[in-house]
Amino acid sequence: MVFKVLTLFPEVILQATNFSILKRAQQRGLIKIEAINIRDYTKDKHKRTDDYPYGGGYGMVMTAQPIVDAYESIKSSKSHRVIYLTPQGKKYTQDIAKEFSKEEELVIICGHYEGIDQRVIDLIVTDEISIGDYVLSGGEYAALVLIDSISRLVEGVIEKKSVEEESFSDCLLEYPHYTRPYEFRGLKVPEVLLSGNHEKIKKWRRYQSLLKTIKSRPDLINAANLTEEDIEFLIK
Ligand code: SAM
Repeated sequence: MVFKVLTLFPEVILQATNFSILKRAQQRGLIKIEAINIRDYTKDKHKRTDDYPYGGGYGMVMTAQPIVDAYESIKSSKSHRVIYLTPQGKKYTQDIAKEFSKEEELVIICGHYEGIDQRVIDLIVTDEISIGDYVLSGGEYAALVLIDSISRLVEGVIEKKSVEEESFSDCLLEYPHYTRPYEFRGLKVPEVLLSGNHEKIKKWRRYQSLLKTIKSRPDLINAANLTEEDIEFLIK
């Protein structure tokens, strides 16, 4: 998977992805992260990449020329998805992450100031994506959310089993985790996890998942694939 991020702040993308799982995935050649500086493509003699909005109003708007030129210079035959990160986009979910992870390449445009000239969206953007109902100062933080969540789904980046059991994989939130020590500040690890009985542990985890989902995200439960046993448990 190749991520091509068009940004005014490439170092934000490059530095933040130079750790842990993403660093190892890049070293192993499973993912590639390119940060393209939009400013390098401006034809403005003062190297400007923003201007006042037509019609007046507060703030600055990123101009179309450097973004479109940057895109045209880095696009390839695999650039099928060009994502603009914006609070006005479709809300990002694990299903969208899965869909994007099937691509070989993703072009991601990070906005700044009041956003980008609408004609960039009209000309080259295929997907407008929001990472939530709040406003960030720049698309870089949202791009990092996409890069991280999509990379986890690229084969080999993390263990397959780990992805399969994670929250949202079956429309349920994941069960709670415990590690050593057995007792911490008076709180003990649930006995079932020490029982060595894998069937019992599986059942306990399933029920904990159901309880957590009902409590924190009841909206998810309708889409979950519930068994008769799950329903019986929830009714109780
Ligand atoms: N004026 C815009 C509006 O009201 O919709 C907000 C612009 S915001 C200050 C600057 C940039 O941050 C946006 O162009 C976008 O790239 C990014 N951004 C802000 N909030 C975001 C969100 N929730 N999801 C994805 N990107 C976001």
